Amino acid sequence: MTVTEPNMIELQGVSKEFGNFLALRPTDLNVRKGEFLTLLGPSGSGKSTLLNMISGAFAASSGRIMLNGTDITNAPPRKRGIGMVFQNYALMPHMTAFENVAYPLKVRGVSKADIREKVTDALKRVGLAGFEHRKPKQLSGGQQQRVGIARCIVYSPSIIMMDEPLGALDKNLREQMQDEIKTLHREIGTTFIYVTHDQEEALNMSDRICLMNNGSIVQLGTPDDLYFRPVNKFAAQFIGESNLFSGKFEADGRLKLSSGDGLALPANAGIAVGQSCQVMLRPERVKAVVAGDAPVSASTQSASGRVANVSFIGSMTSLAVELTDGTLIKLKLTSLPLQSRYKVGDAIELRWDAEDLVVLREEA
Ligand code: ATP
Repeated sequence: MTVTEPNMIELQGVSKEFGNFLALRPTDLNVRKGEFLTLLGPSGSGKSTLLNMISGAFAASSGRIMLNGTDITNAPPRKRGIGMVFQNYALMPHMTAFENVAYPLKVRGVSKADIREKVTDALKRVGLAGFEHRKPKQLSGGQQQRVGIARCIVYSPSIIMMDEPLGALDKNLREQMQDEIKTLHREIGTTFIYVTHDQEEALNMSDRICLMNNGSIVQLGTPDDLYFRPVNKFAAQFIGESNLFSGKFEADGRLKLSSGDGLALPANAGIAVGQSCQVMLRPERVKAVVAGDAPVSASTQSASGRVANVSFIGSMTSLAVELTDGTLIKLKLTSLPLQSRYKVGDAIELRWDAEDLVVLREEA
């Protein structure tokens, strides 16, 4: 997918009220042709509401929805050419895998010979060749969801929407199916709109992520943008782990915290002297200093403290360190011997680069 692709879907000031509850505030959003766009956010943030308005399952309370330049705000769902995959699979229990996948073709009046060819191809694409005659209860959860996906791709909808499709599966299978769905997207090139509340799933799968909270879009961007350049505290905390500091920007170019010398901010941080702000530092950008480390550069900041907590999860060790000024800071160690070196109470010296601090915007 290239960034020059035209917009396929445009939401212009689209909102949704349920009674007097505003589930989606007036929202603008463009979805590009062929992209994999993920709606990410906590429970109740409005992801499914937004998805259901694009699919036509819910009517918009205000605004316009355009599909390839045509106003579809009031078009019925079946006229929108959108295929859906649901978390609970929504398969028909009395039908075989073949019959479930054939169903959307049958209702569209496709010939028997074409149905056989397309269903066989769709089941093969999702790795279920040979499972045609099984009924849903004779299939595992992952296999049932593969049937759900085959039933969606079989009639080549111009947009595929998936609402938490892997939510019912265990971690290993979820990760395997993430890769399968990514490959499927690459192979068929259709626009995908995917809903999840799992940040790692969103980072792994998406061309762009639309992060939502309280019925609004907080940030829209690539996984890199959201992880490395979160716009506010909510985005910084929802995706990945973060060290957050707040204080006032002083004339010496540092952020004055409630205690300690303050933090050097990145060059061109764009903050006025006297302004209060919040900054974020990812734990993996904090280094534990060991003998023989390279000399510091102009933007390196050092601090010393004691280890307050150690969590070992195999691939990495997370440390919480209490600095001498009382500030708590988290870091992640990913290599030996450092991973096994520290225990609670040990003295430790830390370093980070001021350029790795991200200045956050006030939350709206
Ligand atoms: P989840 O991850 O739990 O599915 P979500 O981000 O998809 O959450 P939505 O299902 O879009 O959230 O719901 C957004 C808000 O709208 C919630 O507060 C929800 O209770 C409310 N809501 C959703 N559907 C209805 C409805 N039919 N009637 C009333 N309120 C609703």
